[in-house]
Amino acid sequence: MVVSNIKILILILFLLLISSYGAIANEVSEQEQIFQQPSLPLAKQESSTVVLSVDEKVLSLKKLSEHDAVAAQVRLQQLQQAGLGLNQAEYYLLHVIRANIANVRGQEHKVINWLNKAIKLEPYLHEKQLNSPDFADAHLMLADIYQQQGFYQQAFDAKKKYIKKYSAHLKAQNSLRVKRLNEKYQLERKREENELLSQSSELKRFELTRVESQRNQQNINIAFILLAGLLFFFLILRQFKIRRQLKLLARTDSLTQLANRRAFFTTGYHLMAQAISDKSELCVLMIDIDHFKATNDNFGHDIGDRVICLVADLAGEAMRSRDILARIGGEEFAAILPDATVDQARAIAERIREKVQSNSEQKNVSDTVTVSIGLASINDARENFDLLLHAADLAMYQAKKQGRNCVYNYSPTDQE
Ligand code: GH3
Ligand code: MG
Ligand code: MG
Repeated sequence: MVVSNIKILILILFLLLISSYGAIANEVSEQEQIFQQPSLPLAKQESSTVVLSVDEKVLSLKKLSEHDAVAAQVRLQQLQQAGLGLNQAEYYLLHVIRANIANVRGQEHKVINWLNKAIKLEPYLHEKQLNSPDFADAHLMLADIYQQQGFYQQAFDAKKKYIKKYSAHLKAQNSLRVKRLNEKYQLERKREENELLSQSSELKRFELTRVESQRNQQNINIAFILLAGLLFFFLILRQFKIRRQLKLLARTDSLTQLANRRAFFTTGYHLMAQAISDKSELCVLMIDIDHFKATNDNFGHDIGDRVICLVADLAGEAMRSRDILARIGGEEFAAILPDATVDQARAIAERIREKVQSNSEQKNVSDTVTVSIGLASINDARENFDLLLHAADLAMYQAKKQGRNCVYNYSPTDQE
């Protein structure tokens, strides 16, 4: 009885063993079927050096699958019906989505299968993309499932991979952030440099303008100074000319332009002093127009003036260049003849007298004009010029007395 019971027990155990083996085999075949089933065709074999773009629909479906498996299943079917051409990255995520949908109690082997299927695509994807949380999450999930299943070694390995990927991702993120900060800093530095450059060029322009306006101002100042100097110079020159003219006027007779009485006396004093010191000869002449009052009366004052000028010109012509002729009264002239002996002086006086007489006849200014001339030598009055002139005046009166139109030499016996 016991033996038969044992036999029955062994049979039951055997049957149980067979049925359990069938279930496992069934499960394994289902897994294999999942692996083998081409759920979506690969778009094309792409290089792992490129980060592939992932459709927003796939990403949002992945998020949805993490908390609502039913809705995710519906959306997945819709996506399949749409017949999208997916790349390996999207295909990877699709396996993860399926793993999420299958993640219910008792279906852990399916989750493992889908995740492993996704992981098999890793060689086709770029490392950077695989390190991103959307992809690396597959390893974390796998680690959790293995842990639940008690496959601690696999759980450890998966977790290790996840951590490695996650830290690589963090590192990449950090270096990206540093790179961006660096770029921002470089950009800012460049902008500041440009600003500085433009400011310095602006400063240079201001400086140039300032220097130019300063130079212009200097030029204007120089021009003003030169102009003022020139004006001052012309004013001084004009003043000088006026003074000279005034001096000349003060020494000149306005009617005949000969030296006037004052100038004549000044020159006379000087020449006489010189003649005395040099012990040289010197004579003076006193010339008076005869009957001039009658000329004025008969022909008018203007004609009288013309006669005075005519006599001045003729007397001047008859004298030597170094002789001094002056008008010392109305119709009276006087002359100083330096270095002239009495005879030489007399010859000059005669020449004057004759010239006046003959020219007045020719020019026909009035009736015949004649002059009476008195002559005195320095030897007649050596004391001073006034006495010498006085002697010549006395001689001239003698000439008048003698009948006019003649030359008379002074003699000490002549009385006034
Ligand atoms: P004498 O031969 O004795 O010298 O006689 P006179 O008429 O020349 O002498 P008097 O001294 O009597 O006359 C001089 C005249 O000269 C008087 C005056 O009216 C005139 N007279 C003086 N100055 C000027 C002048 O500037 N112009 C003119 N036209 N006449 C003048
Ligand atoms: Mg007179
Ligand atoms: Mg006279």
